[in-house]
Amino acid sequence: MASHTGIQLRDVTKTFPARNGGPDFTALDNISLDIAQGEFLTLVGPSGCGKSTLLDLVAGLTTPTSGQILLGDQPVTGPGLDRGVVFQQYALFPWRTAQANVEFGLEVKGVPRKQRAERAREVLAQVGLLAFAKHYPHELSGGMRQRVAIARSLAYEPEVLLMDEPYAALDAQTREALQGDLLEIWKRTGTTILFITHGIDESVFLGQRVAVMTSRPGRIKEIVQIDLGDRAVEDLRSTPDFIAYRRQIWGLLHDEVRKTFEAQEVVGVGYRNSRQAGFRRRSRGAGRPQASSGASTGEHDCQTSGRCGDLPLDLGSRAEARLGRPGVSQPVERGALSAVATDAVG
Ligand code: ADP
Repeated sequence: MASHTGIQLRDVTKTFPARNGGPDFTALDNISLDIAQGEFLTLVGPSGCGKSTLLDLVAGLTTPTSGQILLGDQPVTGPGLDRGVVFQQYALFPWRTAQANVEFGLEVKGVPRKQRAERAREVLAQVGLLAFAKHYPHELSGGMRQRVAIARSLAYEPEVLLMDEPYAALDAQTREALQGDLLEIWKRTGTTILFITHGIDESVFLGQRVAVMTSRPGRIKEIVQIDLGDRAVEDLRSTPDFIAYRRQIWGLLHDEVRKTFEAQEVVGVGYRNSRQAGFRRRSRGAGRPQASSGASTGEHDCQTSGRCGDLPLDLGSRAEARLGRPGVSQPVERGALSAVATDAVG
């Protein structure tokens, strides 16, 4: 098993340049956060408070404006195989079977064919999908695809798993089943997990601690220790302890969500303009550029700077070039490209 590593953010601030020559926009303001080795930390906050930006920073997909991020005692300078990333979009390569998708990170790592096939099948079995190893993503349900994405991240035993609302697009039953699976995987592997969500129940069910963020600019408002034992209780979500934690987190979030709504009402017109200028709203909230296959459509600072850690600008082309599949017809979501970015650099 891989050794596991904690994550430290020290006074991390992230600003983005304003479009209209105004002052820079502060997405994250002076965040300090320690995630212990082997800890499962969930991060909740209102839409647009900077949760994904924080995860992108830890993933090494973008760099802080000031402050430092450490993995163990090493500063994060770009993406790497020490971090597995799972996004809301399934981020699978549509032309690869489930097994071949899971093998991808191992291929990049140079694991020989036979071993990587064995490892991929082992991990697919862990997520209950061995029978679907030869299926393509379009032949799988949403929940199955997300399990393949998780299996791909687990296959090469990353020290840290970074998950950005991985279950947000799934129906409630599938989501609850996958939350249970993830807890089991975490208990078995001891991987350090940073899990972003806007779901209060999800944050309490999964996290050993829940970090609550303020509305933008994102800061850590409070960190709540969750003590629910080994969570083996049937219908944990209905227990008095769970309900009390849910209430506590909601109490912390309530004002922040209200501030976010108020701000959106005030800047409504500007927000629409920014969308027309290339920012597409993600299903769960804030505007953010989307990458599509082979083309840069937004202004993620990876793209404006021309570099993303050690990655060149055009992740789409690079992903396809590496895989020898230029011009694939299905759009590949940002998640897939970022997963490639993360997977592709050792
Ligand atoms: P959350 O994940 O909490 O919904 P995000 O991290 O996606 O929030 O975004 C935080 C804020 O930063 C939002 O206002 C968003 O529009 C802005 N933002 C995110 N990425 C960029 C970018 N590349 N350029 C400019 N603004 C950005």
